[in-house]
Amino acid sequence: MELACLDLEGVLIPEIWIAFAEKTGIEALRATTRDIPDYDVLMKQRLEILDEHGYGLPDIQSVIAMLDPLPGAQEFVAWLRRRFQVVILSDTFYEFAMPLMEKLGWPTLLCHRLEVDENGKVTNYLLRQKDPKRMAVQAFHGLNYHVIAAGDSYNDTTMLAEADAGILFKAPDNVIAEFPQFPAVHSYDELRAEFIKASRVVTD
Ligand SMILES: [Mg+2]
Repeated sequence: MELACLDLEGVLIPEIWIAFAEKTGIEALRATTRDIPDYDVLMKQRLEILDEHGYGLPDIQSVIAMLDPLPGAQEFVAWLRRRFQVVILSDTFYEFAMPLMEKLGWPTLLCHRLEVDENGKVTNYLLRQKDPKRMAVQAFHGLNYHVIAAGDSYNDTTMLAEADAGILFKAPDNVIAEFPQFPAVHSYDELRAEFIKASRVVTD
């Protein structure tokens, strides 16, 4: 019984905050977990910037509504779901991700929640738990699943380490250099090959 755990942003969809930064021209919102490894520090900074500029959840959702999965992502997820039980482990929020999950065929998504007031202002974020991606893989191991995981950034590396096999996908050079223990690939064809290599049952 094998489970495939995938990161979402940077692996299947564009980085939501970078898309919003481009739309609004706010450079400081371009920072991601690739730049600031501490997610709490990063999110506090993002919420402060949103507040400063008077942007709320509806503004972000209108940008997200125009995003599409990365080219080839839909086909890759379809390929994966025929061969593995697929779970997306993400540090995004349900309030952001749902329209894009529809475009990916509604795979299971474990992520976080936002708190929003009646004016649409994002007042807080509720992390599901600490180190959530690693904890999920640990729990799946407790259910006797063999876990193969793929992600692109710092916030994926504990998940990759906890999994039976971890794969870096489209990771930046600094992450690849810091984590040489994980194979690093850049195309969905290569990622398919890594999943096949790591699988005990899937051969093509
Ligand atoms: Mg990512």
